[in-house]
Amino acid sequence: MSEEKYVYYFGAGEAEGNAAMKNLLGGKGANLAEMTNLGIPVPPGFTITTGVCTYYYKHDQTYPEGLRIEARNALHKIEDVMGTKFGDPSNPLLVSVRSGARASMPGMMDTVLNLGLNDTTVKAVIKRTDNPRFAYDSYRRFVAMYGDVVMGLKPEAKGEEDPFEVILHQKKNEKGVTIDTDLDADDLKDLVVRFKAAIKQRLGQDFPEDPWDQLWGSIGAVFGSWNNDRAIEYRRIYKIPESWGTAVNVQAMVFGNTGETSGTGVAFTRDPASGEKRFYGEFLMNAQGEDVVAGIRTPLSIEKLKQINRNAYELLEDIYKKLERHYRDMQDMEFTIEDGRLWMLQTRVGKRTGLAAIKIAVDMVGEKLIDKKEALLRIDPEQLNQLLRPVFNRKTKQKMLDDGQLLARGLNAGPGGATGRIVFSAPDAVAWNKKGEKVILVRIETSPEDIKGMNAAEGILTAQGGMTSHAALVARQMGKVCVAGCGALDIDYATSTMKVGGKSLKEGDWLSIDGTTGEVIAGQIETLPSEVLQVLLDRTMKPEESESYRLFHELMTWADEIRRMRVRTNADQPDQSSQAVAFGAEGIGLCRTEHMFFGGDRIRAVRQMILAEDKQGREAALKKLLPMQREDFVGIFRAMQHRPVTVRLLDPPLHEFLPHSEEDIAEVAKEMGVSAEKVKQRNAALHEFNPMLGHRGCRLGITYPEVYEMQVRAIMEAACQVKKENIDVHPEIMIPLTGHRREMEIMHELSVRVADEVVAASGTKVAYMVGTMIELPRACLVADQIAEYAEFFSFGTNDLTQTTFGLSRDDVRNFLPAYLDRDVYKIDPFVSIDQEGMGQLMEMGVKKGRTTRPKLKVGICGEHGGEPDSVEFCHRQGFDYVSCSPFRVPIARLAAARAVLREG
Ligand code: PEP
Ligand code: MG
Repeated sequence: MSEEKYVYYFGAGEAEGNAAMKNLLGGKGANLAEMTNLGIPVPPGFTITTGVCTYYYKHDQTYPEGLRIEARNALHKIEDVMGTKFGDPSNPLLVSVRSGARASMPGMMDTVLNLGLNDTTVKAVIKRTDNPRFAYDSYRRFVAMYGDVVMGLKPEAKGEEDPFEVILHQKKNEKGVTIDTDLDADDLKDLVVRFKAAIKQRLGQDFPEDPWDQLWGSIGAVFGSWNNDRAIEYRRIYKIPESWGTAVNVQAMVFGNTGETSGTGVAFTRDPASGEKRFYGEFLMNAQGEDVVAGIRTPLSIEKLKQINRNAYELLEDIYKKLERHYRDMQDMEFTIEDGRLWMLQTRVGKRTGLAAIKIAVDMVGEKLIDKKEALLRIDPEQLNQLLRPVFNRKTKQKMLDDGQLLARGLNAGPGGATGRIVFSAPDAVAWNKKGEKVILVRIETSPEDIKGMNAAEGILTAQGGMTSHAALVARQMGKVCVAGCGALDIDYATSTMKVGGKSLKEGDWLSIDGTTGEVIAGQIETLPSEVLQVLLDRTMKPEESESYRLFHELMTWADEIRRMRVRTNADQPDQSSQAVAFGAEGIGLCRTEHMFFGGDRIRAVRQMILAEDKQGREAALKKLLPMQREDFVGIFRAMQHRPVTVRLLDPPLHEFLPHSEEDIAEVAKEMGVSAEKVKQRNAALHEFNPMLGHRGCRLGITYPEVYEMQVRAIMEAACQVKKENIDVHPEIMIPLTGHRREMEIMHELSVRVADEVVAASGTKVAYMVGTMIELPRACLVADQIAEYAEFFSFGTNDLTQTTFGLSRDDVRNFLPAYLDRDVYKIDPFVSIDQEGMGQLMEMGVKKGRTTRPKLKVGICGEHGGEPDSVEFCHRQGFDYVSCSPFRVPIARLAAARAVLREG
């Protein structure tokens, strides 16, 4: 017999598991065990391990030997604690069956509640509770849930209503009532009969009366739900491996719906939207847990519980403090009060907005709950994006409000301002977004099926549900703007319209939602950069006026104390460079000189250079370009001051600068005093079938050395000029697309010759470096030879990805989605470094380069330089710096610090 243990019991202050066993017991199971060990009141239960899930899928959906016996034994322990018996006709134990993976996947998998009810046990429940309405309400909910989740009686076509809901509506119509609570015990009993009949009629199967059949049916359904469409989609978005599997938790039921002394709720130890330190939560009396999360009724705020049940509130307060101290992180808890008695059903690390994540981490350092290192590790660098997210222009918004455009207010569930066109379904949100439209997804409530649409929308607005509803939870996690529980909306899906505040809006109308205040406003409102940007870039706000800036600044300071890699930026304009410095850039890692060629009327001179017949003609044109380029570099050197600036010499193929339309050709011909024919001929001569692999990069420098000579001259003359202004400039000349030792030798000789000449003539001293981009596999293979002439390497991972994969970086869009869908690539290799493949080339490039030149400076300037996983990879390979676009500089700073903290 196998040694493996499949079932872990918890109850009455003693548990076989603990919080450290998440991989085996899932998050929910591990935390239920931990809470039990802490002496917190938790209904007894047991967890079936994730190992069983793996077994289940490997063995044709069967269970390992011994599982049933272990489960039976654990169930007996629950019976002992509860003083009831599973299936007992006079005193039955009822249980819930829930999923629980390692990472929380809210609402994505299945749950069955009230299990153990049948025509016999329901009578015992009536006797025990003296509440026939409650007993039949639980029973009809169970039959519907089981019929749906386990037996599969669901809507078959899009737009079809849930079959159990249809029957419920019929019943209400017959009775002439509108709300569920107007149905009495007999009505609910009749619903049970009708539900079972529908199951029999539609599925040809009887609803199982035997509680053990119900239990194993439900356990199988929960394991099965690991692979339902929405769970798969959720795993794809959040990169949760399929191999993890889910655990299953079977737990004694406690009821929040036995009457007005019962209730259920969800609470957070801090505000999950703002991060503010306050007990925060919602509950509903006389309700089951699903009612709060599903958002069908809008719940009350937790403070109200104090008036309803002071003892339970005070106990809950003690528990939340204990849990937060114990876990040293914000907790998201579920509780139920049954006949006045409080039970904890779950605790887990609470999901939060980026702003809240940062605030909580920084505050907890102040409270000495965690240290700075832990704070840095807790913040996903991408969350910083949320601090940099747009807000509404206050004036425009005020004007709209003054004009009576405020439609309603809902709950401020996900901060920030979003504006877009209304759509009423998730598939429409996806379709409109594909057409390039910004949309606001408006729903009565959202469900896990809507996840793709939520992802595609700028913001989400719901009519029902609280701060802990699905919409609110998922929106926060995605960093989406969200207003939830806006009860004033009267939404009609059939006509794609909604009535609100005396107005009627239809699909396609503009709508703005403020997720920070909860306001819903008709029309489009201009959005503004976030406060951090207003402090750092626009300087329209003072640092001390902005709390989010304070947090940002504090966090960045800690990150800077720890990280070892430098963070530079990719910029080719003085204003971009200053922006990047404001974000913390410590230099320029890539200045693409060709971008300057398009500015002002330079393109004329550039075209003249390209169209020139001979060297002499080219030199005449280059003479015109020289002062313009020099001016650009002066601007950048001044903006960057003492920081290093890497300038890359011309890279793209020349034909990119030539005119192509008849009109442009005629204009250029006229300007240059040549015939249109001549321009066309030159176009034709420069035509390449595959320009990405053609006459570009240092190949231009080899064939037209005078172009590179002009650029080196411009760089160095600018450097000398700025040096004379007492600025300690550090120019770095970078040669693109080198693949051969001899290329670098020639380019090095050219650069040094011109640079030295300029410095000598200037009467000042400027130290400079000459290095190269590493963008070709061959460059990695012979990096030791290239390093003989290169003082630094900068990995151009855009081209290196292109050339390693043999994938055109401009043409991937047609097949990349299929590659991602089918899991060929886990992630777009142009977004995150392919560590497994291309990573080997990079590692070799660094190692070989440093065999020749031990102090070789190594950096990265491809788009990957601002992507957290890639940044971490570069750190592990011993890079000196990463370089990325200005807005990603803070993200790279944090990622570089985390890389140090995560070193083995
Ligand atoms: C690169 O290839 O990674 C790079 C930075 O150069 P470019 O994107 O200009 O080709
Ligand atoms: Mg490149």
